[in-house]
Order: sequence, then C-alpha cells, then structure tokens
Amino acid sequence: MHEPDYDSLRKIMVEEQLRKRGITDPGVLAAFLSVPRHLFVDADWKTQAYEDRPLPIGAEQTISQPYMAALMTQWLCPSPEHRLLEIGTGSGYQAAVLSLLAHTVFTVERIDVLYHNASKRLTELGYRGITPLLGDGSTGHESGALYDGILVTAGAPEIPEALLAQLKEGGMLVAPVGDRQHQRLIRIRRHRNGFHREEGTPCRFVPLLGAQGWQQP
Ligand code: SAM
Repeated sequence: MHEPDYDSLRKIMVEEQLRKRGITDPGVLAAFLSVPRHLFVDADWKTQAYEDRPLPIGAEQTISQPYMAALMTQWLCPSPEHRLLEIGTGSGYQAAVLSLLAHTVFTVERIDVLYHNASKRLTELGYRGITPLLGDGSTGHESGALYDGILVTAGAPEIPEALLAQLKEGGMLVAPVGDRQHQRLIRIRRHRNGFHREEGTPCRFVPLLGAQGWQQP
C-alpha cells in the first residue's frame, strides 16, 4: 500500500491543530514538528497518527491527542537545563517531546508491556536523556527528585502529595484532575512558602491508577 507523506501530515498537524489553537512557544512547536508520531502507534493506526484525537496503544491505554500533549508541554514551561518527571509513559511520545526541550526526563509507566515497548522504541529512535521506569508513578520517583517539572498524563482524583513533595522550589506540575470521566488541567507552582494552583482547560484522560491515584481499574 502507498505510504502517506508523514512529514507533510506532521506539518499540517502543527499548523492546524497546535499553532492555530494557541500553541505559540517556538520550542514546543519545533519539538512536535520533529517527533515522528506515526512511529509511536501500532502499525494498524499509523495512517491516523496525525489526526486530531487520542489513539489506542494497547492495554486499553491511549496516546494523547496532539493538541492536549502540546498544551500540557507548553504549560510546563520546560527549558534545556531542566530535570523532568513524566507519569504515564504510554507510547513514549510525550517523553520524546520533553527530551528535546529539557536535559533529563524520567518517565514512569505501570503497565509492563507498554514500558517495554516504549523503552525499546525510544532507544531505537535515538532519543537521549530519557530514563523509562516501571512502577506506580502516583508516588513519583523519589530517588530522582527534586524535579523542575512534573507532567502527569493520566487523570487523578487529586494531585498526589508525593508528587508535590518531589517538586523543586520554582518548579511546576501539570496534571488532569477530576472524576473518572471529566477532568481539568491543573498547574501547580511551588513557591518558597507553599503552592500556587491554576485551573486550565477541561479534558478527558485514562485514570491514574495507584496508591495516590484511583484504587480500582
Ligand atoms: N504520555 C503517553 C504518551 O505519550 O503516549 C500517554 C499516556 S496515557 C494517556 C496514560 C498512561 O498512564 C497509560 O499508559 C497508563 O498505563 C499510565 N498510568 C496510569 N496510572 C499510572 C501510574 N500510577 N503510574 C504510571 N503510569 C500510570
């Protein structure tokens, strides 16, 4: 079968789905232009990889809609010296994007097969500075802390206390928070004397399952 021109599809995705909806950070736009999203989905979904929606990645999980991934990235304000933590590796796509914008990315996934697939994919594609980890990311990754930024890519009932504790002063955490069906993006900034909380756009993510997330699948 004739393969689509993925580079052109990716350019259109960045223009139509990201730039036109308010993703303006040049570094974020460049990262989304660079990462080959079609190589982060199963072969059956490859031709749909640049559509404006999440897609299945197996184990009943999804790769997030490009716009949502970009919005979260822009809100996190990553910079080249940053040490980041992502909870919910999934396909590895968001970790690949973050690795182009920061120095170090730790990414935690609870599902074995997704962890293995993403680790292999990120290595084969040559992404550097990423440490994939298998486990319950709702309690963070203590031995890598403190972080300049923490990005949670699964919906939580509340921001896990463990993640707040692993945030550097001046650091930011972005997470979808709400009930099982509907969440809102929340951004927390750590100050010397506490935390500042902002509410962002409504969204819908698969659940964060774990000790400091939802208890039931
Ligand atoms: N960032 C991913 C990507 O770029 O493909 C998409 C993430 S997907 C929307 C959410 C992921 O969070 C799923 O892979 C799910 O297994 C994972 N997850 C849910 N609860 C978790 C937990 N407590 N720790 C680590 N990963 C978790």
